[in-house]
Amino acid sequence: MQKKWVYRFNEVEEAEKYIGGDWDGVRGLLGGKGANLAEMVRIGVQVPPGFTITTEACNAYLASSRVFSDEIWNQAKETLRFVEEETGKQFGSSENPLLVSCRSGAKFSMPGMMDTVLNIGLNDDSAEAMVQMTGDARFVFDAYRRLIQMFGSVVMGLKDELFENVLTKYRKKANVESDTDLTAEDWKGVTREFKEIFSRHAGREFPLDPYEQLMLATEAVFKSWNGKRAVDYRKAAGIAHDLGTAVNIQTMVFGNMGDGCATGVALTRNGTTGENRIEGDYLTNAQGEDVVAGIRLTNDLSQLKNEMPSIYAEFENIAHLLEKHYRDMQDVEFTIEKGKLWMLQTRDGKRTAQAAVRIATEMADDGLITRKEAVLRVHPDQVDFFLHPQFSPEAIKKAKEEGQLLAEGLNVSPGAAIGVVALTADLAESWAKQEGKQVIMVRPETKPDDVHGMLAAEGIITSRGGRTSHAALVARQFGKPAVVGVSDLHIDMGRRQIEVNDTIIREGDWVSIDGTTGVIYSGSLETIIPDIKDPWLEKLLSWADEFRKLGVWANADYPVDAQRALDNGAEGIGLCRSEHMFFEQGRLEHVQKMIMSDLPIERKEALDAILPFQREDFAGLFKVMDGLPVIIRLLDPPLHEFLPSQIDLITELSDLKIRFQHAGNLKEIDGILAEVEKKEQILKRVERLHEANPMLGLRGVRLGIHIPELTTMQVRAIFEAACQVAKEGVDVHPEIMIPLTSHVNELKVQRSVLEAEALRVMKENDMEIDYKFGTMIEIPRAALTADEIAEYAQFFSFGTNDLTQTTFGISRDDAEASFMIDYLENGIFPENPFATIDKDGVGELMRIAVTKGRSVTPDLECGICGEHGGEPQSIQLCHDLGLTYVSCSPFRVPIARLAAAHAALKDDKME
Ligand code: PEP
Ligand code: MG
Repeated sequence: MQKKWVYRFNEVEEAEKYIGGDWDGVRGLLGGKGANLAEMVRIGVQVPPGFTITTEACNAYLASSRVFSDEIWNQAKETLRFVEEETGKQFGSSENPLLVSCRSGAKFSMPGMMDTVLNIGLNDDSAEAMVQMTGDARFVFDAYRRLIQMFGSVVMGLKDELFENVLTKYRKKANVESDTDLTAEDWKGVTREFKEIFSRHAGREFPLDPYEQLMLATEAVFKSWNGKRAVDYRKAAGIAHDLGTAVNIQTMVFGNMGDGCATGVALTRNGTTGENRIEGDYLTNAQGEDVVAGIRLTNDLSQLKNEMPSIYAEFENIAHLLEKHYRDMQDVEFTIEKGKLWMLQTRDGKRTAQAAVRIATEMADDGLITRKEAVLRVHPDQVDFFLHPQFSPEAIKKAKEEGQLLAEGLNVSPGAAIGVVALTADLAESWAKQEGKQVIMVRPETKPDDVHGMLAAEGIITSRGGRTSHAALVARQFGKPAVVGVSDLHIDMGRRQIEVNDTIIREGDWVSIDGTTGVIYSGSLETIIPDIKDPWLEKLLSWADEFRKLGVWANADYPVDAQRALDNGAEGIGLCRSEHMFFEQGRLEHVQKMIMSDLPIERKEALDAILPFQREDFAGLFKVMDGLPVIIRLLDPPLHEFLPSQIDLITELSDLKIRFQHAGNLKEIDGILAEVEKKEQILKRVERLHEANPMLGLRGVRLGIHIPELTTMQVRAIFEAACQVAKEGVDVHPEIMIPLTSHVNELKVQRSVLEAEALRVMKENDMEIDYKFGTMIEIPRAALTADEIAEYAQFFSFGTNDLTQTTFGISRDDAEASFMIDYLENGIFPENPFATIDKDGVGELMRIAVTKGRSVTPDLECGICGEHGGEPQSIQLCHDLGLTYVSCSPFRVPIARLAAAHAALKDDKME
């Protein structure tokens, strides 16, 4: 038996049988468009009759050095007979001619990449017949010239300008702007001239035989699979080159044959908001491309209800039927020819994040899809949309057109912000707080003592720094849009201005930043503010919670952050960076005193002064997190971070010395001398604490061992706070976390000191507190010896910022400003390891640590608190490794909830 190369639109079952019943296979054989047309026929939707020549035919044609085999061609011709029967028209007839289109249609949509020829079947005779039938010579000759033009460019490769020049000439002659104003006589003239151009440039006459037209057009579509445009598109989209395209031959229907004709496009739901209401545009007496091209002002689809009520009702029914059948919002094209509605195409419609959430949730509520499907239909990144203000797409387009785009940097904290430039944290704060201004703080990089400015600002820009720089961490934690590492940006503090390439922005001028894309604009762009309280999102996330296995905790230092985390669905605090509290007003002086003191008694005094502050901080956190775990990490950064910079001190000292020379009296001299002495002392201490590489120096647990009183004070503050709130009835579960452990002995030493202090406080208060003592895994050695470490730790938390730094041997602060971009551009690193966990290296160390740790303590709590904890791909890895929870910025908690559900549902699929 002959192989079947051609399927009529009503033969989808045969295609299924051939392929083994699999819809994906049917799409592979008939192409996406052909399969959907056939499917529409199967469910009773009126589509113009036609057939599909399979992708296998295309591949056979391309493999046989482009010979159109008789077998395939004869099957196509025979199938055309059925179309003639169905339509009551004849192909090539001079009485009642059938016209067809010939379109490509691959398995995966490749919009505009391959070819189409319309109106095949027109020649001088059939054109005359159609004029007789329609009484509309203008329409017929417009259609005829389109055939010659498309055939010329698609089949014969003629330049489109040759034809366009003729059209321009006719428009000029008739003194009209638009083609729609040309008359029947004009179109006849155009048709004649097009034929002349064709024969002059194609080296042959335009084929008047409709079968020849059809054969050559089909071959051209086959060939277009290997056209440069299509090959480039496939390379970019990762589509296999051996799929081939199908060819759809379909009866032409016309929306431009006078009254009772129209054409349009529609979405079965609102693509922007997701509202369950059909929306679309149409034009009466027009062709499909007129609607899409926007040449004429289109009508809102709701008007069709008045203009053609019964057709609208029919359309509405079909729209609902298609949605129900495809179980998704559809994007459809239709034509009404003399009062008859034809559906030309249907496919899943594009939508905004907001619409995606609402559509998925409502469809699940209506039972059209399952809750699992609804959860899987929304990408975790789409949730981000609800959490931050955004620039409207129109505002971005306009700003780009008007040259307001200034520069690009790293998109480290999403959302849009506008404000006036402030170049110091103090100014940012005073402008925001005292003058009520919206401020964008611009700094070369930020330090902990810039935090007050960051909090007051709407957004942050830094010219240096990477994804885990201080600015990035803090911005993400507080949900402030931030763009860092903007290397084109130069800050001129002398002139109080910033320079970006040739543009100068003065302090106080407006700028806009898009932390989602990492782009900075001059001026103030319009923002739109979505709502996390979106009821559909809340519902979808509650479904996600039912599916996920991973816990979702948050990194939060202050009660307000903890509250936000809780509101967003966090189930614990995975990281409270206790040092951030040291920078609060009224504390830094005690911290500095503690660092400066050489005498234990002085140090104790300073620590005693800090303790009440810390106790209040922790009590606040515990109260908010009533009943949930709160992990407090003991001091981590090197001490010099709390002291002024060496360069600032040197400058200040030289200023003081100049002042000294001009001092007017003894009292002034004494004052200056005292200050000089103080600063010199600080400078000495700064110099003593100086390290060539402080990130690998005296920090983390090393610091705790070096100054045990410091960590004892922190543990006392934690337990005093815990006892205090427990007495008030709060259910408190502190977890004490030691940073940067590399050897089990570090933990042994710290644990005995700290547990003794914890016991002391509990005894003083005559209370038992349910607590855990654990460590961060941030150093490869800790991961590799996790079984030893697990003997002394009740939990592990992967600090993947440091673990990435120490595994790669790359400085987390410097890498993204220097070679990293190059590495990423050249594919040396497939992904930025500070954004997505490096599965093979860092991920492998995590796997070893979890396995070894749980070999000692089977139910060991293992979490992650590095920035990766809020990134969907990394969350997938954490799920695969069987971690207990991920901890991330409160603003990423909803994203993590959805990503964790996706990871769990993928397991279901594999089972
Ligand atoms: C980490 O290293 O991943 C971490 C959470 O700690 P930090 O970023 O404060 O060093
Ligand atoms: Mg760390």
